[in-house]
Amino acid sequence: MRYVFDHDFHIHSCLTGGKANTPEVILEYAKKNNLKTVITTDHYWDDRIPTDVKHGHIGNDVIHSLQPYPQEDGIRMLIGAEGDIAPDGTLGVNRRTFDDFDFILISATHMGSTWFKFDGTPEESIPERAKAYVRRFDAIFNADIPHHKAGLTHPVGSVMGPSEELYRYVLDAIPDAEFHRLFRTAAQLGIGVEINLASMRNHTLKEMPQHTPETHPSVFRPYYIAREEGCKFFFGSDTHFPDEFAFKPQTAETVIDQLELTESEKFILKP
Ligand SMILES: [Zn+2]
Ligand SMILES: [Zn+2]
Repeated sequence: MRYVFDHDFHIHSCLTGGKANTPEVILEYAKKNNLKTVITTDHYWDDRIPTDVKHGHIGNDVIHSLQPYPQEDGIRMLIGAEGDIAPDGTLGVNRRTFDDFDFILISATHMGSTWFKFDGTPEESIPERAKAYVRRFDAIFNADIPHHKAGLTHPVGSVMGPSEELYRYVLDAIPDAEFHRLFRTAAQLGIGVEINLASMRNHTLKEMPQHTPETHPSVFRPYYIAREEGCKFFFGSDTHFPDEFAFKPQTAETVIDQLELTESEKFILKP
C-alpha cells in the first residue's frame, strides 16, 4: 500500500517561527489536509544541560507556554521540540527531557546558517562537515535516550551548509558504506528518519522547483540507502510561516512517488 501523508512532525509555532504561526493556524492546516497528527517542534535546548556554546534556542520556561493546545476530534496535536547538538558533542536533550514531550526531533545537521552556528565550530570545510555529520549521528545513536520517541531531522538539507548548493558536496563526501552503517543503526534503534519537506526544494530560486532523483541525486542517495536498511520514515514540513503550509502536502505526495514509499515504512509514534 502506498504511503499515506497523514501527519506532520516538524512545525515551528510562533515561539520560533513567524508570529502568525499560532496553534490555531496549525490545527486549521491539519484539518484542511486530513492530517491525524501534527507536532510543534520549536528550536530548543534543555537548559538543565550545561553548555559553554552560545545558541538561540528557547528553553524550558518558554517551550510549553502555548499549551494547552486547541483540540479537534480525530486530530492529535502534540508538543515536541527540535533539539540540537553542539560541536563538542553535547546533546541538548537527555532521557529526562523526553518526559516533558511527546516526541523530540534531533538535528545532527545544523552546521550551516549563522543562527545555528555555535562558537568555536570547526566545521568549515566540506570534508570537515562530512566528518562532523557522521560524528553527530553517532552521538545521537550512542546517547541514553528513548530513541523510539525521537526523530532524525533533515538528514539531508541545506542547513548543513555551507550554502544551498554546496551542501550536496557534504553528502557526496560520505561513502555508501558509512550511510549504510548509520541507517542500519537508526533502524535497529527504532529512531524515525525525517523526510524534511523544506529540504526537497530549492529555496534560492523564485519558483522553488522540487528536487528530483535526476536533478539532485545527492539528496536522494541517503534515502535510498535508509530504505534498504529498513528505516521508518515520517514527514516534517519544517514550516515557520503560515503561507508555507499551502504547498507542503503536494511536495510530500511527490516525494512519496519518487521514493515509492509504502505504508509499512511509516514511523509510528505510539500514544
Ligand atoms: Zn532544523
Ligand atoms: Zn525546524
